[in-house]
Amino acid sequence: MKEIKFNIPLHLNESIKNVKKFLDSKKPLHGPGKNILRIKDEVKNKFGFKTTHLTNSCTSALEISALLLNLKKDDEVVVPSFSFITTASSFARTGCRLRFCDIEQRNLMPSFSQIKKCINKRTKAIVIVHYQGFSIDYLDKLQIFCKKKNIILIEDAAQGFGSYFKNKPLGSFGDLACFSFHETKNLHSGLGGMLVVNNKKFIDRSYLIFDKGTDRHLVQTNKKKYYSWVELGSSFLLSEFAASYLLPQILYFRRNNIVRSKLYNRYLYNFKDWHKDQFFLTNVHRYKYNFHAFVILLKNNKREHFLKYLKKNKINAVISYTPLHRSKAGKKYQINKPKLINADKYINRIVRLPLHNYLKNKEIDYISEKIKQYFNRY
Ligand SMILES: *Cc1c(COP(=O)(O)O)cnc(C)c1O
Repeated sequence: MKEIKFNIPLHLNESIKNVKKFLDSKKPLHGPGKNILRIKDEVKNKFGFKTTHLTNSCTSALEISALLLNLKKDDEVVVPSFSFITTASSFARTGCRLRFCDIEQRNLMPSFSQIKKCINKRTKAIVIVHYQGFSIDYLDKLQIFCKKKNIILIEDAAQGFGSYFKNKPLGSFGDLACFSFHETKNLHSGLGGMLVVNNKKFIDRSYLIFDKGTDRHLVQTNKKKYYSWVELGSSFLLSEFAASYLLPQILYFRRNNIVRSKLYNRYLYNFKDWHKDQFFLTNVHRYKYNFHAFVILLKNNKREHFLKYLKKNKINAVISYTPLHRSKAGKKYQINKPKLINADKYINRIVRLPLHNYLKNKEIDYISEKIKQYFNRY
């Protein structure tokens, strides 16, 4: 068996052709041009996202979201302790305080009561993370709750492109939603991302912040002759060049998702009779799913031992995030010293198994077998 990589980024022949066609056209590489417009059209038609900005990362989309909120220093933003760093840092850098939230063992996301525990009159926003491309099972209720309490809901859907809650795509529930097209995600442009603006009150300013704090979009739509500085923004744009690579992946999203689903379901099948003494499966998909990650949760604290064993058998599995409320910067920007019992207990037991479009069935069987052997031995 050859070394099994954790991830091999999706790479389509259609992308190569489209990039070549774009370069041959000698159109400006910065854009926005036809490829960006086409992506915006596609996500509008497929998912109903009306106002979108193609960004150079999900982090940029999160930072635009944070800037849109006009947070003050006593304002609080609720973030799960189990997420990627920039889910938290994008807000912390505006000067507000973070309130880290615990997670459940079942799906590694916060429960409604864990979120509610973090709410008070200073709460301005809640960031909900669709870990593994799953959603929490109360997303519609949370949406209503936030409206009633005048709290802005932000979806960190970095991993959630193409997944649904009930019959609506992830990214259509929050006032704002952020996607990633980093090459570790299902579809990508090396680096890339997208902000979806669902709340109308944020639309106008989102254009300004997105494009360096200028009103250049008015020049692009022939509403103004020259653009000028009107806001504090930054350079958040995805280049047209990168978009020419990304577009075919968006167009052929369903086709490639089927490949992932087969691999994912093979893992599930292989582990179906597994007695759950040593690890849990954390798959919870009930709605249309993008098969982003295959994650297991160990029942013991010997993750390093387990990873070393896999590595010795040429299997590259990885850990997920480290707890934000325990990090150096997390401690500095959080409002309190929260007792996050589950986060402390479970985050260091999470293992992500290899999953990418070029994985073979026999490799999945090999990985599953090696894991079973490990747990029969230890
Ligand atoms: C990958 C990821 C990000 C960051 O995405 P970038 O595009 O690399 O900025 C943020 N949040 C979550 C949950 C992620 O998985």
